[in-house]
Amino acid sequence: MKTVDLRSDTVTQPTPAMRATMLEAPLGDDVFADDPTVNALQSRIAELLGKEAALFVPTGTQSNLVAIMSHCGRGDEYLVGQMAHTYRWEGGGAAVLGSVQPQPLEHQSDGTLAIADIEAAIKPDDSHFARSRLLTLENTIGGKVLPLAYVADATALARRRGLATHLDGARLFNAAVAGVAALGGDPRAKAREIATHFDSVSVCFSKGLGAPVGSALVGSKEFIRAAHRWRKMLGGGMRQSGVLAAAALHALDHHIDRLADDHALARRLAEGLAGLPGMTVEAPQTNIVFADLHGPLAAGLMAHLSSRGVLATGSFYVQSSRLRFVTHLDVDAAGVDRAVAAVREHLMTA
Ligand SMILES: *Cc1c(COP(=O)(O)O)cnc(C)c1O
Repeated sequence: MKTVDLRSDTVTQPTPAMRATMLEAPLGDDVFADDPTVNALQSRIAELLGKEAALFVPTGTQSNLVAIMSHCGRGDEYLVGQMAHTYRWEGGGAAVLGSVQPQPLEHQSDGTLAIADIEAAIKPDDSHFARSRLLTLENTIGGKVLPLAYVADATALARRRGLATHLDGARLFNAAVAGVAALGGDPRAKAREIATHFDSVSVCFSKGLGAPVGSALVGSKEFIRAAHRWRKMLGGGMRQSGVLAAAALHALDHHIDRLADDHALARRLAEGLAGLPGMTVEAPQTNIVFADLHGPLAAGLMAHLSSRGVLATGSFYVQSSRLRFVTHLDVDAAGVDRAVAAVREHLMTA
């Protein structure tokens, strides 16, 4: 039985063409800054996102941590969403390793942080308070695309109040591809347009772009110089990392536009699930589908799915469960249909 792995877009295997470019990549020692493939990737992603410089890092978590530590010092704080990766899913790294206090804010239903909440959370310059130094946003957030007008307003407010801005754009290219879907246009230009509003941006190559490892942090030369020092301190100085950068370059060449396929599969999955009894499905904007199941069948659903070779992630409550399905490079329409069939089988025959 072939497994359909919808747990995350991180599970993709490098394609044969990607493996071939990794094997052929010219390599150096990136700690001596002479790995030509890493240098090529850093120039490429900086230019693509309209920033002066970039840093290749092993993970998105390290990228965000390095960014927060480069923008903020001890006793500073960053404003961040309650459900943001940079707050909830990074082990408290900014506080533990950076002595930077998070100021988490509730999200609105579209994933944004209300402008009024951001404004109210910025502390006056008073020794009782941590110094508000940074606003971090995430795009996509829970698979939702932040409206560009919102991004402009939120970052303008931050700038007006003297805060730096960081975007966790782990799935920035999903946002960009979704952003041009209706009217057409180049997703690369859209990604740059989104990035323009921020001082720094982190992007993952290991999610929908399909590379095995790696993220990039982009920003000004001065910012990246600071980030480079923190990366070294955090153990992120890698050596012949061009072998990984080659995969990321290949992904930038070949895997941006095809994210539209993942988005179409997510819609196919959502439509398939939406008609099933007890299921509530949010229409996906990108490659992530959330489906809520209410009633007594919720408890056994995940076990049933895995018995049918369908993998997803989920949270469970007494009489309900929330499932998350993520489409990616290694999923096709047949796989999506098998996932829907497995859910249907559980709901109709139990
Ligand atoms: C995956 C992800 C990251 C980074 O994850 P790593 O596993 O550390 O590479 C950061 N932010 C968001 C929104 C993510 O989805």
